[in-house]
Amino acid sequence: MRLIHDTNIISTSSSGYRDCLQQQRPLVSLLSADIFLLVIAHPDDECMFFIPTIVNLISTTQSVFHILCLSNGNYEGLGKQREKELHNAVRTLGLDTHQVTVLTDFQDNPLLDWNDQLLSDCIYRHILYILSVLQGSVAAPSKEGQHLKTLTILTFDSKGVSGHRNHCSTYR
Ligand SMILES: [Zn+2]
Repeated sequence: MRLIHDTNIISTSSSGYRDCLQQQRPLVSLLSADIFLLVIAHPDDECMFFIPTIVNLISTTQSVFHILCLSNGNYEGLGKQREKELHNAVRTLGLDTHQVTVLTDFQDNPLLDWNDQLLSDCIYRHILYILSVLQGSVAAPSKEGQHLKTLTILTFDSKGVSGHRNHCSTYR
């Protein structure tokens, strides 16, 4: 994260999320960044908690948008199926499947806290991956003479929105 000038970490709070839904405005309506990275714990988190944010960002900004899903949601042995469902969901939302990465480093389990260090290493490596893919764009000034320089990470709040321990781990 030190490679870029500014890193924002935005987490949803249950009350903030509810307020935004009631007012039909996205949580990040006033936020701008060159790259948005949504970090979720399981396939379906994107639909359950972040659709207004995703739709707003991809329809109103030119920013690069990626989703990092930390597990394939294999708690009931349906990881492969849930992974496919995630890819179908993001295609429906207008994203390309290369904008979504599903890891299998962490086990979906509501009773399990995930290792903080391992998590931050995975997220950091994924940011480096995104930057490496965008390397030409990052290194070279755009037509307007601006450099890509800001990254905003979107994720759950400290209570994981729904209280799921994997969501809380993702926030930490
Ligand atoms: Zn979840």
